[in-house]
Amino acid sequence: MNDSELERYSRQLLVPGFELEGQERLGAASVLIVGCGGLGALAAQYLAAAGVGRLVLVDADRIESSNLPRQIAYTEADVGRFKAEVLAQRLHQMNGAVDVQCHPVFFDETSGADLLAAVDVVVDGTDNHAARLLIDRLTADRGLPWFMGAAVQMAGQNIAFTGSRKEGCYHCFAPQQVGSETASCGTLGILGPVVATVALRQVLDVLGALTDVAKVPWGMLRQYDFRADTTASLPLPKQAGCVVCDADLKPGLQ
Ligand SMILES: [Zn+2]
Repeated sequence: MNDSELERYSRQLLVPGFELEGQERLGAASVLIVGCGGLGALAAQYLAAAGVGRLVLVDADRIESSNLPRQIAYTEADVGRFKAEVLAQRLHQMNGAVDVQCHPVFFDETSGADLLAAVDVVVDGTDNHAARLLIDRLTADRGLPWFMGAAVQMAGQNIAFTGSRKEGCYHCFAPQQVGSETASCGTLGILGPVVATVALRQVLDVLGALTDVAKVPWGMLRQYDFRADTTASLPLPKQAGCVVCDADLKPGLQ
């Protein structure tokens, strides 16, 4: 690490448990961000600012004016442009040392296989169950951890999944919600600070996983009700016979 990097990252280098080794581990890491909206764009900004080595952005959506109250990486002049492309430009302006790759495509079975090829962890910036089920299955196949975030109206959730899924998986957690595409911010609404808080919990989990600066609550469902100012944390309901995480059905898993 050169002098300008030591100066740039000096405040986080001072944090016990992060220090030089944490910075170097962050610099060697590659993170895939699936979805560049309220969750993914903010997570990507913080990860780039912190000095993650490589960020891969995927989102087929274009910026709309209704995104601006919470997706603060974007400006009025960006409306109509691809989120992934605009965000990649912002991140490059923020930290030119980060290798940012953008893919303005849908995350699906085909693109997902390529996008997951050379990453260490995945951040969920999507807004629907179908996308999260796909992330869950594709990352489980590759033994990759992923960090789920969800927010609607005044409530949010986070779960950090290990690569092994020994604590359970998203398929265990949300099988009853498969196909429930109507419960989104587009139909129910969202406040910006709610989704931002959930995104920053994802970032803290990623930093903890990549550097050991913090304990990651793997497999714990964390729920926040920002209207009542309450939080809850409970273990995932790991399901025997789950097609994704049951080790008896998936001999490759431990
Ligand atoms: Zn499962």
